[in-house]
Amino acid sequence: MCGIIGYVGGGKAAPVVLEGLRTLEYRGYDSCGIATIDKELEIRKDRGMIGEVDRELSFREMKGSLGIGHTRWATHGVPSRENSHPHQDCAGEIALVHNGIISNYLELKEGLLERGHRFTSETDSEVLAHLIEEKHRSAGLEEAVTEALKEVKGSYAILVISKKEPGRILCARHESPLLLGIGEEGNFIGSDISAFLRHTKKVVPLEDMEYAVVEKEGWTVKNTLTREPVEKEVLTVDWDQQMAEKEGYPTFMEKEIHEQPRTVKNAMAVYDRDIKGLAEMIREAKRTYIIGAGTSLNAAWVSFYWFARLCKAPVIVMDSSEFIEGGICDEDTLVIGITQSGETYDTLAAMRHAREKGAKTAAIVNVIGSTATRESDHVVMQNSGIEIAVCATKTFTSQLVILLRTALELAKLTGEGGGETGAVEKELAHVPRYMEEVLEKEEEIKRVAEKYCNKRNYLYIGKGISLPTALEGALKFKEITYFHAEGMSSGLLKHGTISLIDDDMITVAIIPGDGENRERITGNVQEIKARGGFVIAVVSGEPVPQCDINITAPKCHELISPFVLTPICQLLAYHTARHHGRNVDRPRALAKSVTVG
Ligand code: GLU
Repeated sequence: MCGIIGYVGGGKAAPVVLEGLRTLEYRGYDSCGIATIDKELEIRKDRGMIGEVDRELSFREMKGSLGIGHTRWATHGVPSRENSHPHQDCAGEIALVHNGIISNYLELKEGLLERGHRFTSETDSEVLAHLIEEKHRSAGLEEAVTEALKEVKGSYAILVISKKEPGRILCARHESPLLLGIGEEGNFIGSDISAFLRHTKKVVPLEDMEYAVVEKEGWTVKNTLTREPVEKEVLTVDWDQQMAEKEGYPTFMEKEIHEQPRTVKNAMAVYDRDIKGLAEMIREAKRTYIIGAGTSLNAAWVSFYWFARLCKAPVIVMDSSEFIEGGICDEDTLVIGITQSGETYDTLAAMRHAREKGAKTAAIVNVIGSTATRESDHVVMQNSGIEIAVCATKTFTSQLVILLRTALELAKLTGEGGGETGAVEKELAHVPRYMEEVLEKEEEIKRVAEKYCNKRNYLYIGKGISLPTALEGALKFKEITYFHAEGMSSGLLKHGTISLIDDDMITVAIIPGDGENRERITGNVQEIKARGGFVIAVVSGEPVPQCDINITAPKCHELISPFVLTPICQLLAYHTARHHGRNVDRPRALAKSVTVG
C-alpha cells in the first residue's frame, strides 16, 4: 500500500500536500514525492521518510496551487529516488502517483518500449504515465486517462496532472482506496480521510471503476468504462485525526485484523512463477527446513501439515534461533526463512549459516528491499501491506496463503497430491468470504472475552493442523494480555499439563469442522471437563456441546481451518487485552521486528 494526496485550491498546494503526506506516512515510508504545477510542472522526490526528504528538498518552496503527493510502500522496484512517485511521461508533461499493483505491467511495458518510450524506474506504476502520454497527444486528459485505464489490469488509485490542463486533477480507483474531500476554498483527494481532515470533514468516497475530475471550484465523478456521470452523496464525518489514520478503528491491531479478507486476496494474487519457483526448489532439495521466529514459526508449523498431507513432503520445521545448533546443511539442503520484516536477526543468521555450508535459501517476506530479500536465492513477497501493530495478525494469514499455495504447487509437480488437493484448492478461494463471516462475529467474541477471560492462565489445545493455530492463539494472547497462555497438542495434555486444570485455568480448544481430529480433541475436552475445567471452543462448523462456550466459524475443510479459526483467536486476545487496559498496538517489552539475536 502507500498513501496518495492531491489538492487544488486557492492557496499554495505544496504545504497542504506535505501535511497530508505526513498523516499518510503510516501507509508506507520507503520514499516520498510531490508534484506541483505553477506554470511549469515541478517534481521533488527521494528515498526516505518524509521528514528526511523534506529537509533535503524543501517541499514547501514548491510553487503552484495544484499538487499531488505520494508516500511509498514499494511493491515493484527497490526503494530509490528513481522508483519514487510521482512518475512522469517522456515529454515531462504528466505527473502521476499510484497506489496498488498493475499486474499486466510487463506486457504493457514491452509494447511501450517498442513504441519508443523511455522508462526511468522499475515500477509497475510508470507504465500508466506513458500510456496516458500516448492517448493525451490527441485527446484531453480525461479521455486519455480513461482510455489508458481500459488497458491495465490490477489494482490502482491514481492521481494524474498535466501541464496542458493545469487547473485539474484526474483521479481514479479500482481496488485501492480513494476519497474526495470537499473544501470551502478548494478540493482534496486522499487515500484516507486523515489526509485532508484538518481542512474538511465533507467526503465523497469513490467506488471501484469510478474516476473524478477535481478542480478548485468543483468536482464530478464518472464511471470509468462508460464515462457517464455518477450521482454521489457528500458524507460528513465526525472523526478526529487519530481515528482517521486508523480508518475509524480504535487501534491499528483491530484495523489490521479486519484487513485480512483483503490481504489474503493479495497473497492469492502473488505471482504463480514465484510460488512455482519455491515449490521447485523443495522438489530438488533432499531436505527442506522451514524456519522462523514467533508468529512466523507458527506459520511454518501450519505448513508442516500441509506439506505432509497434500504432497507427502517431509519438511522440517525449526525455531530459527535453534537452527545453527541442529540444522544439517549441505548442497542438497534448502532453508526457507519466514520473516515479515525481512530483518529478523535469528532467521537471517540461520540463513547465512546455511548458505556458508552450501545450502540454498529462500525467503517469504513482507518488506521489500529488506535484508532477507537481498540475501536469499529466491524470494516470495507476501504483499500484506504495512503492519503497524507489533502483534502480527494479517501478515500471519498471508504467510499461510503463500505456504499453502506452495504445497499445492508441489503436489502438482510431484503428482503426490492425495485426494485432498482439489478440495483444498477450491476452498482456498472461499477464504476471504469465510473470514468476513468470522469478523462479523466480533461483538460476540468481545462479550466472551469480557465475561470469561478474567483468569491469569490459559491453555490453547489443538490436534493436527489445529495445533499450530493453538500455538499462535496462545502467542497472541500472552503477547498483548500479559496473562500466561500456553499452546500444546491436546494429546500431550495428559502427559503432565492436565494437573494444572483448576478454577484459575481456562482452556481454549481449537476444533476443526470435520475429520477425526474433531472427535479426538472433543475426547480430550471431556478429560478437562471431568477435572472441573472451563473450556471455550473455537470451532469450525457445528458447536461442540461438551464445551462451556462455543465461538463458531464457517464449516470448512480441516486443512483450511487455520484461516477461519485464527481470526477468532486474534479477536479473543485483542478484546481481552483491551478489557484489561493493555496497550495492544505497543505491548510492553516487544518490538515489531526483532533485529537482535
Ligand atoms: N506498485 C507501486 C510501486 O511499487 C505502488 C506501491 C504501493 O501502492 O504501495 O511503486
